[in-house]
Amino acid sequence: MKILIDNGHGIFTPGKRSPDGQFREAIYTRQIARRIVSDLQDRGQDAQLLVPEDDDISLKERCARVNRQCLLHGKKNVICISIHVNASENGQNWGKARGWSVYTSKGQTAADVLADCLAEAARKYLSNQAIRADWSDGDIDFEEGFYLLRHTSCPAVLTENMFMDNRQDLQFLESGSGQRAIIDLHVEGVIEFIETV
Ligand SMILES: [Zn+2]
Repeated sequence: MKILIDNGHGIFTPGKRSPDGQFREAIYTRQIARRIVSDLQDRGQDAQLLVPEDDDISLKERCARVNRQCLLHGKKNVICISIHVNASENGQNWGKARGWSVYTSKGQTAADVLADCLAEAARKYLSNQAIRADWSDGDIDFEEGFYLLRHTSCPAVLTENMFMDNRQDLQFLESGSGQRAIIDLHVEGVIEFIETV
């Protein structure tokens, strides 16, 4: 199974940071994505970064990269996970929303299985945190994410790893144990999926 880990936005993308400006989604997700890839490789899995660059690679280009791998390996032999950090406010204010969630596009059965495996692992590794699994009905704020889910031919999911504009979530995100938990849940969820299908 070819495992493609996407780290979302570019480091020059405006916004996408905590209200105090200290936490930057793109920098954080790049670190997390790299560690997920290397842990999966250590476990003998064929994982790679979808976006090794620091720049914002367009959603269209990211989908083209995924779909090239689908042509090469067969779409049943590729999965894509896009790593994000959520926000509930406009970037200026701290918000109340908290927790972890996973998104799929509608009608992709294998992606739902992958989302379930990740949510199961999240329940284990984020046992003290709020979990919102498979929030696939859609939310206006996540349109950009859905593009990647809609235009890729393999199972693809997007994880929103806690809220960068919630003080408690942010503290968790920045802690060593929080980062470890987020990495581990992705690694274990992916391996569980591969063993299931
Ligand atoms: Zn994002």
